[in-house]
Amino acid sequence: MSTIAGDICFDKVRKEYGRVTALEQLDLQVAAGKRLVLLGPSGCGKTTALRLIAGLERVTSGKLYLNGQLANDLEPGERNVAMVFQNYALYPHMTVWDNIAFGLQVRRVAKEEIKARIKAALAILGLEGLEERRPRELSGGQRQRVALARAIVKQAPYFLLDEPLSNLDAQLRTQARTELVRLHCKLNSTMIYVTHDQVEAMTIGQRIAILASGVLQQVDTPENIYNCPANTFVARFIGNPPMNLLPGIVKGNQLFLGEGLKLTVPGNWSAWILGKSPNKEIKVIMGLRPESVILKEEKIAEGECLPVKIIWRENCGKERLYYLAAGNKELIASFSESRAEPRGGELWLAINWNKVHFFNKEDGNSLGYPWNAQKLSLNAGVIP
Ligand code: ADP
Ligand code: MG
Repeated sequence: MSTIAGDICFDKVRKEYGRVTALEQLDLQVAAGKRLVLLGPSGCGKTTALRLIAGLERVTSGKLYLNGQLANDLEPGERNVAMVFQNYALYPHMTVWDNIAFGLQVRRVAKEEIKARIKAALAILGLEGLEERRPRELSGGQRQRVALARAIVKQAPYFLLDEPLSNLDAQLRTQARTELVRLHCKLNSTMIYVTHDQVEAMTIGQRIAILASGVLQQVDTPENIYNCPANTFVARFIGNPPMNLLPGIVKGNQLFLGEGLKLTVPGNWSAWILGKSPNKEIKVIMGLRPESVILKEEKIAEGECLPVKIIWRENCGKERLYYLAAGNKELIASFSESRAEPRGGELWLAINWNKVHFFNKEDGNSLGYPWNAQKLSLNAGVIP
């Protein structure tokens, strides 16, 4: 079962509902056949973006292109979009077969063709044998698959999924997300997958676009989003437990973290950071992922470590978490199997400067990375 994919382009798209601005100046492109995940907290505008593509809402301003053609005024039926809604929206009185067939019958697809497409979809989604059941006779996972089947038989160039796994329990969700990626590889359509779950985003997306309050924060590969977050919002949203953020001031080669805590910043970093400011000092936020926190039992040299106290330990099975206090600042450190854990309650936190992030305190934007100026892309735009 395959289709001819098309590309999607938002060009300064704005969407208002009365006084609510759901999307601001959205510039986003998805190349044909690729898989983009739209990620962000509830209310950030994800569903709105999908509804605009499907033609269920009209843009307030800006341009939306489908397959290179301006689509602002196209009717939903002219857009060739298959969408799976968050609540599945199955017809309760129809059987599984009829639920899947309905859209095709409306489009007057030939009977034999409908049969062939449904059979293929049932096989791909493991729904064979359930054709005569009604939605209420299915489990949550099966209903979700029927909703997917109904979308894929359309063989549309655009496949939009709005939090399709949110009603499934955790185990089923993990399995279903792998299946979805495999399914997409078979379909060859352009897929936008909406979720508020960062793990789903990291595992499903070839690119991830992160939205906050209707504003696009970053578009990039999962790897770059994790390693080079564009700002403190992305830094905290991706990663669990989230990145530790410590505000401070860089003066010369010193980072002052308050309460007498200070660190000596290596030359490449201090030159890089101060190069971003016309002044001799700059207010920053230092970011440290929990897995990059180094703890030592003995003090190393002055300026190379911070005294920390362990407040609490948590055993999560695959990792252990340490809740730490450095002065009045709190941090989390995580230790997996392979990482040695220190003993004692009063320890020293040392820094691996290759794993540090710096953000500008003023606007929260990343100051970049001295060893790779290219890596940080606020908007990687077109998916290659
Ligand atoms: P998400 O899917 O990320 O949770 P939505 O796109 O549903 O976010 O909503 C974005 C914003 O637009 C929210 O503030 C929401 O309340 C508002 N909104 C969405 N749909 C409507 C509507 N039909 N009328 C008024 N406001 C809406
Ligand atoms: Mg939504």
